[in-house]
Amino acid sequence: MKKLLTIAVAGALVASVVGCGTANKEATPAPAATGGAAATPKADTGKKPTIGVAIYKFDDTFMSGVRAAIADAAKDKATVDIVDSQNSQPTQNDKVDLFITKKVNALAINAVDRTAAGVIIDKAKAANIPVVFLNREPLEADMKKWDKVYYVGAKAEQSGTMEGQLLVDYFKAHPEADKNKDGKIQYVMLKGEPGHQDAELRTKFSIQAITDAGLGVEKVAEDTAMWDRVKGQEKMAAFLASSENKIEAVLANNDDMALGAIEALKAKGYFKDNKYMPVVGVDATAPALQALSDGTLLGTVLNDAKNQGAATTSVAAALANGKTPNKETTGYDVTDGKYVWISYKKITKENMNEAK
Ligand code: BGC
Repeated sequence: MKKLLTIAVAGALVASVVGCGTANKEATPAPAATGGAAATPKADTGKKPTIGVAIYKFDDTFMSGVRAAIADAAKDKATVDIVDSQNSQPTQNDKVDLFITKKVNALAINAVDRTAAGVIIDKAKAANIPVVFLNREPLEADMKKWDKVYYVGAKAEQSGTMEGQLLVDYFKAHPEADKNKDGKIQYVMLKGEPGHQDAELRTKFSIQAITDAGLGVEKVAEDTAMWDRVKGQEKMAAFLASSENKIEAVLANNDDMALGAIEALKAKGYFKDNKYMPVVGVDATAPALQALSDGTLLGTVLNDAKNQGAATTSVAAALANGKTPNKETTGYDVTDGKYVWISYKKITKENMNEAK
């Protein structure tokens, strides 16, 4: 009997460790301990609520940071079951159905298609399971469908404005960057996924920040690279092939695409022997900070994965515990009764430690 108990305790420990480590993979069912019914590890998980988290795809640099932050913040608050929607809305809908069948206490959804949020809200409402969306903002009409629907994210227009300002600062300090001396910044734009609020608004507000600063601006080319580094490299290589001598700056809606562009530029001899191109991105991911310190990336904007993940967990846990999310119950300000906005921050080589 003693031996059986030892095995059961060992099983319980394994189960609790597995429970904490689901951030990077599909939830692994707790291994059944040899020892029968007595082995079920109730004590550790106690009354912690379960949050079903569906990420649009695991293979996204920024969302990997958010995912880790969700798991980290959950340690003392909740059990999180984090799944990969593999960039497919039907797959995500199936995962949500499964969470509902499992009777999770709250949902945290990073929608594949943000216009599909309404369907998820209907399902959640029917099962009375509160839902927190993150990073991909549902349409306002959908947000209003139920009072137990929340959104955690960052104001896309703010990141666009900051990105544009990074280029403004550079061109004001370096008049020689206006290579053809026409008083305008000739730029190329690498856009994220069309329809994503961050792609649309960063594209618009980055350029608006340049004109607001009184500088002229002219688009040489624009294309979507779907937030992806390899696609960013391919699109930038194509821009260089068709119009290299016109381009004076590169704006990318995120760091992965900016880093792809930098690869294409390096292949054309940039970033050595005084051949330079200002490239700006958004996110302040670890590889982007490395590029800042290498002097290839001019600037980026901190998209605070840590706080977005932590706020998601806090809001979902509060809802799961039957509380109304507010500053007191979550540690974050809740605006308009539904939104938690995490601020962006301009990052250059000078202040990059603040993003680490
Ligand atoms: C980030 C991108 C990311 C996207 C995913 C954006 O906020 O800047 O890097 O790919 O979210 O939805």
